Amino acid sequence: MKDNSENICIKCGFCCDGTMFNYAIITENEPLETGYSFETSLNKQRSFRLPCKYLQDKVCSIYNQRPYTVCESFRCKLLRSVISDNVSYTDAIKTINEVLALKMKIELQLLEHHPENAGDALPGIMKEFKAHFGSTVSDIEFRKKYGRILLDFFLLNKILNKSFITGHKKKGLS
Ligand code: SF4
Ligand code: SF4
Repeated sequence: MKDNSENICIKCGFCCDGTMFNYAIITENEPLETGYSFETSLNKQRSFRLPCKYLQDKVCSIYNQRPYTVCESFRCKLLRSVISDNVSYTDAIKTINEVLALKMKIELQLLEHHPENAGDALPGIMKEFKAHFGSTVSDIEFRKKYGRILLDFFLLNKILNKSFITGHKKKGLS
């Protein structure tokens, strides 16, 4: 493992800031600590909502006191690849920057239509967006009018699925 491999996380934060997931799942026995917004995830597991308020400037502000197993154990595909030397640090940062650029583009476009969703997890915002606008206009009109956002979201998911999301998704986050 290279010394600086974990440093990619401080340039990223996508597993905590709502880019990848709407929720972080906690185990049956873990207590509901104050400061988190608890909910039951779509698959009925105990979870807290993301973005997590403890993430500040892409860094966990309670890193040494993180109360949940998922916070300590989660390592995305990209981090694992850097640790095992299958992806270089430079290429990992390039991928992170690609996601950041797409994410900013999508958020700007989405928030023009749904300013009240500022700060919510991106998958959740996108779902609401499709449900709301998809139901008010025909499919063809919807695609014509919002094709740019849909394409950017498709590209974002493609990168996330290819480079970040692992089997851990099922175990720890959703
Ligand atoms: S998504 Fe991966 S690289 Fe980014 S902060 Fe989480 S574990 Fe680190
Ligand atoms: S407590 Fe820290 S590691 Fe856990 S979700 Fe929040 S910011 Fe991420």
